[in-house]
Amino acid sequence: MSNQTDTEPVPAPALTLTAAFEGIEGSYSHAVLDAYAGRRGVSFAPLGCHTYRAVVHAVLSGRADIGLLPVDNAIAGTIREGYDVLAEYELDPLAEITWHMDHRLLGTPGSTLAGIRMIDSHPVVLAECGRFLATLRDVRAVPVTDTGIAARDVAAAADPARAAIASSDAGIRYGLIELANTISDHPENYSRFILFRAPNARGVAADFEPATDYGVRKTSLVFSVADEPGALGRCLSVFGANGLNVSKLDSKTRLGAEHQFAFYVDVDGDIREERFAAALQALRGVTANLHVIGSYDATTAPPRQRITTTVTLDLKPPATPAPAKNSWKVTRRNPATIARVRVGNVIIGDGHFVVVGGPCSVESREQILATAEAVTSAGAVMLRGGIFKPRTSPYSFQGLGWEGMDLLAEAGRAVGVPIVSEVMTIDQVERMSSAVDMLQIGARNMQNFDLLKAVGKTDRPVLLKRGMAASIDDLLSAAEYILSEGNPNVVLCERGIRTFETATRNTLDLSSIPVLRERTHLPIMVDPSHGVGVRRWIVPLCRAAKAVGAHGLLVEVHPNPSEALSDSEQALTFSDFDRMMAELAQVPIMNDRVG
Ligand code: PEP
Ligand code: MN
Repeated sequence: MSNQTDTEPVPAPALTLTAAFEGIEGSYSHAVLDAYAGRRGVSFAPLGCHTYRAVVHAVLSGRADIGLLPVDNAIAGTIREGYDVLAEYELDPLAEITWHMDHRLLGTPGSTLAGIRMIDSHPVVLAECGRFLATLRDVRAVPVTDTGIAARDVAAAADPARAAIASSDAGIRYGLIELANTISDHPENYSRFILFRAPNARGVAADFEPATDYGVRKTSLVFSVADEPGALGRCLSVFGANGLNVSKLDSKTRLGAEHQFAFYVDVDGDIREERFAAALQALRGVTANLHVIGSYDATTAPPRQRITTTVTLDLKPPATPAPAKNSWKVTRRNPATIARVRVGNVIIGDGHFVVVGGPCSVESREQILATAEAVTSAGAVMLRGGIFKPRTSPYSFQGLGWEGMDLLAEAGRAVGVPIVSEVMTIDQVERMSSAVDMLQIGARNMQNFDLLKAVGKTDRPVLLKRGMAASIDDLLSAAEYILSEGNPNVVLCERGIRTFETATRNTLDLSSIPVLRERTHLPIMVDPSHGVGVRRWIVPLCRAAKAVGAHGLLVEVHPNPSEALSDSEQALTFSDFDRMMAELAQVPIMNDRVG
């Protein structure tokens, strides 16, 4: 009965944000809006549209509270249609959102990469994966409206020769399997989206009040200049003269137009600031067709959030219920497709076999420079070196600390390879991530869950070593901690476990390699140095590790092992290392697609 009196509490209406975007559910725009609404604590009603213009119309007509359009991609560049449509209408931009575009090749269950002949995706996304597409034979790339539609249509066609490039969320949503991942031309592939509402918006959209701190805002403009010497220079000098920083500049030719070039410019700051008023006045005098898209919040993309967003997608409940115990949401993604983890210019996994060499500990400038030179000239593609050493005894050498970091970085630069070093505590994570290309989690810290979460929040690849009393599933659970924080770039490392056997330092469990290859998509390396701890057994174990399917090796090397300050019994000499590389060249890389 609706017999309410004044004293009865009136339930607050649940806030639902109707948001327009191009495409259908499962598209990247849909995921961005979902995450955005989630962060604001409102529920979200998606309104998919066929074109960018239709998105704007939905907002202006009041059918949607807000709209979202992409304007930039790190690989493909400015998405001019987004800027053009935003400039054409009177809109109120609210915020920019930067999103990690972690593309997957998705096929119907039972399909294989080799059998794919046609790939659907958004044209910008196809451009972002150009290098991957170029590696495929007899495949036609077909541009479609958006990635969600691509995934949906491939699922509906149920044709094993068809695949879509879309997010892992789209794959789960439409019941597709991953045939390849990490397929963008560069892993740091981000798109920038602009969220906007109608001017004088009412209802839910009216809640989005612009920030008053102009320092974290950005303003977008589109203008044309006359085709004459110095025209662009005059426009741009207006910004500098008024203390405004231009953060983006792009141009396009306007066919058939009197003013031939349109420029897309983003400037740090808010249009309501005094310096902007002066700049705009001056700009009007030197431009033709000046369109101010507007000012918006530019704080929504801190680097760590950009990565986390990827995992928000991965953690969507899968279509089929997950097992109740030991929920493997991220580490057990289709093991038939081994991940490629990029460390600088090095790829680990998926058909690549890499050798990382270097001393147990960085001891001196001479030692690390000489070792870097020796291992890379023999073919190592990365340099290792501990600066914080987890030693069994507190009286043993503990590493050079940050001073060693500078030496390791210098050596890496000198030979042009990425570096990896162990991070032991949470408070070292931030500085270490800015100094090394890959973070190592040592065996003794494999179950330091807070440390795992901390490295999971960084954008650095992680080398996760198996704990000495850890089962294979314990290792995968530890990886799950890192991945579930948003960092997908984990390489596992078998480094020997404690058994009753005392003839070797540890028991190098090479049988974990085939097991892991069956259970996870993550690449796996082997560290025979800590595995056996005895120099003369290391080279044959390296060969065995490669033969059984490891994606790489981590090997300790020292210019003069007998004088090494840590792990001197197991360090290879430079000539041992040369011999090891020569012997490894005789061992074929195990085909990743054979289970
Ligand atoms: C190391 O690689 O230097 C190291 C200490 O290894 P682990 O954590 O495997 O003992
Ligand atoms: Mn060591």
